Amino acid sequence: MHHFETLQSMNNKEKISNKNENELKEQQQQQIKLKQWVTHRNCIMYLDEYIKSSKIAAFDMDYTVIKTKSGKIFPQHVDDWVWWHKTVPDKLVELHQQGYHVVLFTNQAFIQSGASFSVEWYNQITTKIRNIANLLQIPINAFISPCEDEMRKPRRGMWDLMIEVSTLLIEPFDIKQCYYIGDAAGRPDHWKPGVKGDFSDSDLEFAKNIGVDFHTPEVFFLGESPYIHHHPIPMVSSKPKHSKK
Ligand SMILES: [Mg+2]
Repeated sequence: MHHFETLQSMNNKEKISNKNENELKEQQQQQIKLKQWVTHRNCIMYLDEYIKSSKIAAFDMDYTVIKTKSGKIFPQHVDDWVWWHKTVPDKLVELHQQGYHVVLFTNQAFIQSGASFSVEWYNQITTKIRNIANLLQIPINAFISPCEDEMRKPRRGMWDLMIEVSTLLIEPFDIKQCYYIGDAAGRPDHWKPGVKGDFSDSDLEFAKNIGVDFHTPEVFFLGESPYIHHHPIPMVSSKPKHSKK
């Protein structure tokens, strides 16, 4: 067991006593200002409120909460978005009313590629997230990973940073009551008739790395049955697609 006479650095990941941990949190929270975009350890974030709930409802943004209005894969401008489904806004407000803190975690590697930083993408993403939160009128904390590093999903950096800087809890979250919703679930082409496969499984793996339940937007918002990966034995209850009768 180590004894720290002074707090060596904000980045210190070593085990420290509870008292020091709380002191550390207080110091950090004085640094992270509420209601403004800040960049901290290469993560762009907005803390609407400090998290007082032990329940987190976490969401990916693109193709989970919103999609493009233009139908193009990537948004063409700041207003090129619509809700992923019409049920999304009511559901997010309902979660807030049920005591969840709604948090967005989004990979946006267009913002920073190597040494080049895109002010245009930064402005587009940050403005869009605040427009979404203002429409919903609920507190939303948002974390953006702008490049390829330990903050990028499926790595758990953004989740750890959330715990570190945006909670007033001495007790950790009730991880069993937290979940994460995202569309990058590694589903293959035609997982649903006529539907393309997911570009990645980074959302599914992010949830696994954090240790929370994972759902796709289809399951969470629309109540569809989850896609089951790799069925070694055909399900007895499944109906044949083409009956030979
Ligand atoms: Mg997505």
